[in-house]
Amino acid sequence: MKVDYKNIDSNFTYDGHDLGCYCDNKGTGFKVWAPFAHTVELVFFENGTETKAFFMQKEASGVWTYNTNENYYGEKYLYRVHGEQVTMAVDPYAKAVTANGEYSVVMDLTKTNPIDFDQDIAPKRENEDVIYELHVRDFSWDSSIGGNPEYRGKYKAFSEDWAINSDSKGLKYLKNLGITHIQLMPIYDYGWLDETNANEQYNWGYDPVNYNVPEGSYATDLEDAATRIRECKEMIMSIHKAGLRVVMDVVYNHTFDLNNGLEKTAPGYYYRQLEDGSLANGSACGNDTASGRSMVDNYIVDSVLYWAREYHIDGFRFDLMGLMTTELMNRIRIALDEEFGKGEKIMYGEPWSADFSPTENNTHKAYKDSVQFLDDGVGVFCDGTRDVIKGSVFKIELPGFVNGGSNLEASVLDAVSGWVDSQGEIRPKSCNQIIQYLSAHDNFTLWDKLLLSMKPGEIIAKEDFDNTYEDIIDANKLAAFMYMTCQGHLFMQAGEEFARTKYGDENSYRSASEINMLDWKRVEKYSELVEYYKGLISLRKKLPGLFDKTREAALRVTNKTIIREKTVSFMVNNDSESVSTDWSQVLVVYNADDSDCEIVLEEGEWVILADKDKADCRIACENSVLVKNKSGLMVGKKRR
Ligand code: CA
Repeated sequence: MKVDYKNIDSNFTYDGHDLGCYCDNKGTGFKVWAPFAHTVELVFFENGTETKAFFMQKEASGVWTYNTNENYYGEKYLYRVHGEQVTMAVDPYAKAVTANGEYSVVMDLTKTNPIDFDQDIAPKRENEDVIYELHVRDFSWDSSIGGNPEYRGKYKAFSEDWAINSDSKGLKYLKNLGITHIQLMPIYDYGWLDETNANEQYNWGYDPVNYNVPEGSYATDLEDAATRIRECKEMIMSIHKAGLRVVMDVVYNHTFDLNNGLEKTAPGYYYRQLEDGSLANGSACGNDTASGRSMVDNYIVDSVLYWAREYHIDGFRFDLMGLMTTELMNRIRIALDEEFGKGEKIMYGEPWSADFSPTENNTHKAYKDSVQFLDDGVGVFCDGTRDVIKGSVFKIELPGFVNGGSNLEASVLDAVSGWVDSQGEIRPKSCNQIIQYLSAHDNFTLWDKLLLSMKPGEIIAKEDFDNTYEDIIDANKLAAFMYMTCQGHLFMQAGEEFARTKYGDENSYRSASEINMLDWKRVEKYSELVEYYKGLISLRKKLPGLFDKTREAALRVTNKTIIREKTVSFMVNNDSESVSTDWSQVLVVYNADDSDCEIVLEEGEWVILADKDKADCRIACENSVLVKNKSGLMVGKKRR
């Protein structure tokens, strides 16, 4: 149904932030926005049967309310919306639901807090953000970890002894690796999986159903609607205790389908339509939510703030941000800054969409070429850096700089300063807007991409992916060296540091848990690679010339030089007034060639900080240094 959304926006916008259900000792209140309804009933259920129903009071702006002194804690409810049709709707603002999101549940949130949750605080932000993208089930599906089998793949696994105390897996290992944020792949309630039989299936979770409720398949109990909330909070608290922050992957650009509370309470309003009235499909998932319309934007802002307040989430990663508007993204940025302090919560997203989607109310899409219209504190995934280093994610055989590509030297040097001074498609205001990365959940893992592009036709059997190969390790180390010496925020797919493989499965969104899970045994098997990542991250945090996020950061990078084919270098001014550092200048060389390369150093006292073998080392050198084939080199000039 095509709706006159402009009329709705003008006459029915509700700017209150109290939609949904509230319950405490004083009573229970319900408030729902249903602008097309002529009557709305609040209906309660027990064992699938209607037990009682109340007519709701019509307020201004399409809002309907019901308030009572009764405490309805734990009761299941739906709204019966009488409009052109009569529909039974889950509360779109539900904070608790039954299995598979079938009914909304009245929740007193104070009853969902784990012990000491009121004292839970995130660790302070460090000099650099190193974001680690992780799926809840992948974290603990490996049976070799020795956890409680009942917690396998659950929120609870994050609080287990193995996760907290092991040096070779889990949270302590990740803290030691040096990462600062865990970005959790979707933890809101998503479709696809039958939560009552979840272990038989697998899904990444990019199919939102109830935006403000944690996914049920990660909980140990679905009967008590408070359990999934409590266990999700426990997970976040455990990650905080381990010294890491939590970013939530949010997918506000589309929903699983239209069988949800949004569509049923305001048919046609929340979704974009094409001229012919059919649903827009820029998400390639069947529908696009209509950010740019006032109540869609209000809904998304309220939802983000809810997760930040109630669950102590420290940042948000926006899926297909190109379907959302720059106006909305900036509004979220301001709302988070106002409430939590400037930059305290990080924000970034994918500046693209899968296909065309209409623009409404004269808004602008948050695409890559619109980054200059985004607040400086809204970042974008930088596919330019990703592809120039390792090659296209779409064409497996197409190489990047580290795996045989040619004529990429100039682009590599553009990536170094976060493309800020390049003349390309993306024109960020500063590297604060750039997320530098090589691999994420989409597409091949870095290890698989390198294997399949460097050994075409040779990698066939499962064990081929599990072998170690000196040339692949070298390429992986150089790739990591490159993006970790580019200005911007750093992001990595979980396990990139231990040669994570999905056995060539490039789109494993519903593949077996065994394909997707983290195989923690690889930490030991690929320890050389793990140590190298660890060294790079540690070094990065000591180099203000690289972690500077100001608009002047790009000016620190000088002497960008193409030394020869497949070898480039640049200097970084590493001075800082706020951070103490031993090196005033840093020289960085990327050598993807098969032969070594000698570099003559200008006068001064130089120390090798990273080379082919080790990152974060201290090896004295003078006059000249040798950059080994297929490797990166960083030398620091001592402060006088
Ligand atoms: Ca679900």
